Amino acid sequence: MAQEANPFESLQEQIDDAATYLDVRDDVIERLKNPERVLETNLAVEMDDGDVELFRAYRSQFNGDRGPYKGGIRYHPNVSRDEVKALSGWMVYKCAVVDIPYGGGKGGIVIDPKAYSESELERITRSFAKELRPLVGESRDIPAPDVNTGQREMNWIKDTYETLENTTAPGVITGKALSNGGSEGRVEATGRSTMLTAREAFDYLGRDIEGATVAVQGYGNAGSIAARLVEDLGASVVAVSDSSGGIYDPDGLDTRAVKDFKNETGTVSDYEGTEAITNEELLTLDVDLLVPAALENAIDGELAHDVKADVIVEAANGPLTPDADDVLTEREIHVFPDILANAGGVTVSYFEWVQNRQRFYWTEQRVNDELERVIVDAFEELVDACESHDLPNFRTAAYVVAIRRVVDSYDSAGNWP
Ligand code: GLU
Repeated sequence: MAQEANPFESLQEQIDDAATYLDVRDDVIERLKNPERVLETNLAVEMDDGDVELFRAYRSQFNGDRGPYKGGIRYHPNVSRDEVKALSGWMVYKCAVVDIPYGGGKGGIVIDPKAYSESELERITRSFAKELRPLVGESRDIPAPDVNTGQREMNWIKDTYETLENTTAPGVITGKALSNGGSEGRVEATGRSTMLTAREAFDYLGRDIEGATVAVQGYGNAGSIAARLVEDLGASVVAVSDSSGGIYDPDGLDTRAVKDFKNETGTVSDYEGTEAITNEELLTLDVDLLVPAALENAIDGELAHDVKADVIVEAANGPLTPDADDVLTEREIHVFPDILANAGGVTVSYFEWVQNRQRFYWTEQRVNDELERVIVDAFEELVDACESHDLPNFRTAAYVVAIRRVVDSYDSAGNWP
C-alpha cells in the first residue's frame, strides 16, 4: 500500500496550486503555508486507578489576519503535529471562503477516548484547558468541537477557563450545550452545510437531487446529519459506514433508524436487512453523490481511479489527497470541497459567538436561514470564480477566493515589526 499522504503537505500543495492563478508575491504565499505558532504540551493526568498517564496535545494558531484563531479540538489516536497544523490551515481558508471574520486554529489530543472513563476524560479535558488558557480568549482564539468531542467537552473547557479567569466568557469556546450558552442549530450545522452544498451542486449541474443515490462514509456528527438532511430532500441514501465497516441497501436506508441503531450498538454494522461492505467498497459505489464524512486521506490517487460517483461533497476535512484531486479533475468528477461544504459548523459557531457576546439568543429558524444565506452566497461566488477564471476545479476556486481575502487583510494592515 502507498504511504499515507501527510495532510500538512497536502494543504501546502493546495495553496501552491491556487497560487499559480493569483498575482501574489511568493514570500506572502510562503507565509500563508505555515502556522504562526504551535503549542505542544504533555498533559499529566491522574487515572481512576491512581496512576498518572501522559497525553500529548497540540494547538496550532495558523493565521490571524482576518480575526481571532478559530477551530475545533480533536481526540483521536492519529492526532499528530502535522495533522493539527493542516487542520488549522484549512480553518483559515474555510473561514475566508464563507467570509466570516476569523483566522484559523486547531487543537488535538493523541487519545482513543473510548478507552477512558467519563471522569478521566473530564480531567484530561480540563488539564488541556488549563494549558490553553494563556492562548485562548473571546477575542484571541476560540476552540470548538471536532472528531470525538462535543458539547460535554466544550462545557468543561468553558467552565475551566471561566473559573481560572474569574469571569464569565461564554464566547471563549463554541459548540456548547444550549444550557451553557450554546446556539440552536449548532449540532446540525456541519451536516446542514453539506446538504446545502449538495443541493446547490445538483442544481448547478442541472441534476435532480430527488431520487439521487447517495453513499456516506462516516456516521458521526457530520455524516449522520448530512445523510438525514439529503434523505429529507428526497435522495436515497443507499450506503453508510463507520470505522468498523459499512452497510448497503439498494432500496435506500432509513437514516434516522440507522442512527438510533448506532447509538445503541456503537456501530452501523449488522443493521438489519443490509449487505455488509467495506469502506473502500462504499467509496467506489456507483452512486450519484458520494459524501466522505470521516477523516483525511479517505481517497488517494489510486482509489480515485475506481470512484464511480458523479459528484463528491466533502463533509470531512481533507478526505481527498492532492493526487486524488488530479485524477478526479481529469475524470471530470465534480468535487465540492470541504472548506465550503463543511463550513456550516464554523459558521454557526460564529453565530454562537455573536449571540454570546451580545447576550441575545436567536431562534433555530433564524440560525438556519442565516446559515443558508452564507453557504448559498459562498457557493455562487465559488462557481463564479471557477467559470470567470477558467479554473480546473472547485477546490482551486475556493482557495483562490479565500487566499485573496486573507492577502487583502494582510496587505491593508502591513507587516510589523
Ligand atoms: N471542527 C469544525 C471544523 O472543522 C468546526 C470548527 C468551529 O466551529 O470552530 O470546521
